[in-house]
Amino acid sequence: MHPYSRIQRIATRNESLTQVHQLQIYTESHLEDISQIRQLPAPQRRAMHAVAKVLPFRVNRYVIEELIDWSNIPDDPIFQLTFPQQGMLSPEDFEYIASLMDKGGDTKQIQIAANEIRLRLNPHPAGQRALNIPYLEDKRLEGMQHKYRETVLFFPSQGQTCHSYCTFCFRWAQFIGDKELRISAHEATHLHRYLKQHREVTDLLITGGDPMVMKTRHLANYLEPLLAPEFEHIQTLRIGTKSLTFWPHRFVLDSDADDLLRLLAKLVDQGKHVAIMAHYNHWREMDTPIAREAIRGLRDTGAIIRSQSPLVAHINDDAATWARLWKTQVHLGIVPYYMFVERDTGARHYFQVPLARAWEIYRDAIQQVSGVARTVRGPSMSTSPGKIEVQGVTEIYGEKVFVLRFIQGRNPEWVQRPFFARYDERATWLDDLQPALGTQPFFFQAEYDTMLDSLTQH
Ligand SMILES: *Cc1c(COP(=O)(O)O)cnc(C)c1O
Ligand code: SF4
Repeated sequence: MHPYSRIQRIATRNESLTQVHQLQIYTESHLEDISQIRQLPAPQRRAMHAVAKVLPFRVNRYVIEELIDWSNIPDDPIFQLTFPQQGMLSPEDFEYIASLMDKGGDTKQIQIAANEIRLRLNPHPAGQRALNIPYLEDKRLEGMQHKYRETVLFFPSQGQTCHSYCTFCFRWAQFIGDKELRISAHEATHLHRYLKQHREVTDLLITGGDPMVMKTRHLANYLEPLLAPEFEHIQTLRIGTKSLTFWPHRFVLDSDADDLLRLLAKLVDQGKHVAIMAHYNHWREMDTPIAREAIRGLRDTGAIIRSQSPLVAHINDDAATWARLWKTQVHLGIVPYYMFVERDTGARHYFQVPLARAWEIYRDAIQQVSGVARTVRGPSMSTSPGKIEVQGVTEIYGEKVFVLRFIQGRNPEWVQRPFFARYDERATWLDDLQPALGTQPFFFQAEYDTMLDSLTQH
């Protein structure tokens, strides 16, 4: 029996896999159609509308019915993950938008105000736009990023949305409909030509948005050609996704779910390493029967699921949650991979956790799990010079310091060299850190500045 007929059988036989079968999406204009929301007090609903005018909001009925615990509002982590909260805007910005709404301001007026606020929320952190765009014969490839030698990121144009949105998303600027801010590619041709010419690349990471919102045939257009001999150097095909959380139906019940699993199995059978880079913030996301079935189906294809997620206040800023997240993942055959520090963008003041606290949470959680769950690298900042991990806090000759290392660097030679920053219990990002032990500046700074000069001259 072909392994995927098994999934079909389970899906049709076991109606209790999920109550929800169709992807039904709600945005700000349909907030009041959600019966659970209509029960909330008017000021709370007003606040949600106001925040959703500025930050992306999109949620589907599976998340509402099967992931959120409505007896625990507003603290429920999945509610915080998907629904706008007043604190996500500064009090001034919030009052500004809310008062325009109260005065019955027209859509245009509100939109202008919302845009002003968005521009102040650092829509493109870590110089993503200007600095990492690759060139093909002098043509900018807008839908791609190539920052670290081995890995090319590709943003397919059909994958620039998600089945729901995360309130803390660092790619939020892509969703607010501002074409100017959107990064996306129009065709597979550029991708394939670029990869053919760049033999140093071993990994392609398809990302978004969420590439799993795409139909299987679109995904196949990008991925299947890579089985040809001229792409032998592309060993690993990674797909970044939160669909295992927001729409596990994609792998079980959707009309092209079987085709998707067959596509992945074919890539694996023909020698590629297929890595599903699953975005999970909380163990509750893996708790429904359909989520488990999706994981099982994906693993049957031979793909490996790795998990990565940011540490964010209001959702997962405690060690017990992370320990249980990693234990659940290892139990289900998922490899814990990265814990990220929330980026310096969007509603960051609401979600941020100081680096010192993030490291304590990581340490306390890692102490509770077995070695197979300790594959996860802990709190890492995706900064413009590279991915920097906080390895710990210690004291050297009486000076309290952070021990840091690059996990990825614009220059691969920066990787794995320990360096130190002065301890600061409030620091939340690299910008807040100063070199320690009398050294100035950080070892990579001069070289990074030179790189910036040459990159911005393009
Ligand atoms: C994180 C990241 C990668 C992948 O890094 P790995 O450590 O190989 O997972 C690639 N490109 C960019 C821009 C990244 O931020
Ligand atoms: S799934 Fe990823 S890209 Fe989509 S909203 Fe969440 S963090 Fe952003």
